[in-house]
Amino acid sequence: MNAIDKLALANAKRKELQDAGVAIERLDPIEKARRNPTSLRMAINGACWSCAGGGADGVGFTKEGIRDCTAKETCSLWNVRPYQATSKTLPQVSVISC
Ligand code: SF4
Repeated sequence: MNAIDKLALANAKRKELQDAGVAIERLDPIEKARRNPTSLRMAINGACWSCAGGGADGVGFTKEGIRDCTAKETCSLWNVRPYQATSKTLPQVSVISC
C-alpha cells in the first residue's frame, strides 16, 4: 500500500469515527512519540518538534523551522528530519472521481 492509499484509508477511518460520534484527538509529535515509545520515526519527529519550539509560535511556523533547519553539520537528525517535502517537491497526484 502506498502513502496515498494509506492517507485515503486513514481519512475514511477518521470520517467513520466522526460519524459514529467519536471525538478525534489531535496529538503533537511529542505526544505521539510518548504513546509509541518504540517508533524511531516518531522519536525523531518529536525531537525535531521540541527543538524547533514545540509549536509555541504556531504549528506551521514550527514545521517550517524544521524544514528550513540549518544544523546540517551539527545535528545527526538533520537528514531524517520531518517536513522536508513541500508541495513543490511532492509528486503531483491526479484524483479521478467515479
Ligand atoms: S534536525 Fe534541526 S530541528 Fe531537528 S533536532 Fe536537529 S537541529 Fe533540531
